[in-house]
Amino acid sequence: MARYIFVTGGVVSSLGKGLSSASLASLLQLRGFKVRVRKLDPYLNVDPGTMNPFQHGEVFVTDDGAETDLDIGHYERFTGISATQSDNITTGGIYSDIIKKERKGDYLGGTVQVVPHVTDRIKKFISHNVKNEDFIICEIGGTVGDIESLPFLEAIRQFSNDKGKKNSLFIHLTLVPYLKASGELKTKPTQHSVKELRSLGIQPDIIICRSEKKIPIGERKKISLFCNVPIDNVIETVDVRTIYEAPISFHKEKLDERVLSYFGFKNKKLPNLTKWKNITSKVLSSRKDVNIGIIGKYVNLKDAYKSLDEALTHGGISNNLKVNLKRVDSENLRVDDVKSLLKNVSGVLIPGGFGKRGSEGKIAAIKYARLNNIPFFGICFGMQMAVIEAARNLLNIKDASTSEFGNNCTPVVGLLEEWQKGKKTIKGTNKDLGGTMRLGLYDAILRNNSLISKIYSAKKIKERHRHRYEVNVKYKNEFEKKGLIFSAMSPDGTLPEIIELKNHPWFIGVQFHPEFKSRPFTPHPLFSSFIKAAGKRKGMN
Ligand code: GLN
Repeated sequence: MARYIFVTGGVVSSLGKGLSSASLASLLQLRGFKVRVRKLDPYLNVDPGTMNPFQHGEVFVTDDGAETDLDIGHYERFTGISATQSDNITTGGIYSDIIKKERKGDYLGGTVQVVPHVTDRIKKFISHNVKNEDFIICEIGGTVGDIESLPFLEAIRQFSNDKGKKNSLFIHLTLVPYLKASGELKTKPTQHSVKELRSLGIQPDIIICRSEKKIPIGERKKISLFCNVPIDNVIETVDVRTIYEAPISFHKEKLDERVLSYFGFKNKKLPNLTKWKNITSKVLSSRKDVNIGIIGKYVNLKDAYKSLDEALTHGGISNNLKVNLKRVDSENLRVDDVKSLLKNVSGVLIPGGFGKRGSEGKIAAIKYARLNNIPFFGICFGMQMAVIEAARNLLNIKDASTSEFGNNCTPVVGLLEEWQKGKKTIKGTNKDLGGTMRLGLYDAILRNNSLISKIYSAKKIKERHRHRYEVNVKYKNEFEKKGLIFSAMSPDGTLPEIIELKNHPWFIGVQFHPEFKSRPFTPHPLFSSFIKAAGKRKGMN
């Protein structure tokens, strides 16, 4: 029977609830338990798919095509378990389901209310599709005290009551700030946050205190006393040097041990932390480094390319290289500045993106990488821009572009139905923007003897997609005559999935997002190979 662990946050946001939940999940896994981690987001968007990355960071895509919160990416990377549609829900998703039912008359004339209808729907989400897992960890987005969080907190309170206290545990993560002027760690914000939680009927069982300094016993006692939590269940978390150290640090603080004691487990196998220790020391050891230029629109917000940054780190780990990311804002990238900006980089990466702004800077950077033999990796939009660059400069189609930017061009990238009359789009067809992309896992068939088939050592791959536009297959032969090979296609041969340039050390564009499938202990082959090529360029391997 599954036990449920609810993780809430207080005082301020961005304390690392996602990482704490993922670390706990990994520790429980290493102790031999089956876990699943879920995220409940209180905002009103139906999913984060339509949100600007500036607002909410990266949109993480699952195998089954859900556009989810970036914390789902942490869970996957830490547990190695692929998430599904059913692991992330938002207020918007819940209300749209309820309203659909209400319009159909499913409530039989009853008044539809937050309690019980919304809370019931949340409770159903928490426990649905649970198979043989021992623990379901549910992270509640936002901070206690937010208006939007209320139905979620009420639902988990009821849930714990329904299942019994023995089967559910509340963890509350708070901030214990350090006041330089008085040289003290302050517990009052934690006390207030717990008071707020208790006023909603939730008594935390474990409090995780995020702090920049170690929390002395006196302060722990205070938190224990005022928050009504046993002192052993006041767990501190100080900043770690790399995220891979988080599970080790939580174990030292006995988080996993306290959780298991709470649930009454006697025979507690210790977790084998070797893999986390090895990866931490690898990341922290002084290694030779390699500079990778990332040219994108959202480079000023670190979380906007979370999985990508992680995947590049994984590629570095597998080559024993430290990857330095040089982020270049494509919107301010003047074509004339490309050379000086990319002077010291050994690899150029253009990530996924949307819209015309900044695209000419990206195209100029691709041209520079192509002509100067700098390893180039184009992901989704990055591949589309590489095709446009090649069309303009190798095929001499001066107005080559994508119909995403308007119809005033030769669309070497566009919507499938633009060049295949009568062909139905494989994407959603309604007029809404949400959920209208090619989303989730799709197969691609790799061409024999291509660079890509060597990298994957496979003939067929499955990768996660998130895009509306496709490279126009009509130009395939012309491109191939000029050395730009379409080295992977969709199984029906209509959609180019990967391009690569002959006579270049490493020039690859992919229509999908390999970064979503890269994991610290199984780095994605494309990222390992790209970093290896960048290292070679620097003359390091
Ligand atoms: N904007 C492009 C499209 O919709 C690329 C999307 C992406 O990079 N994820 O096809």
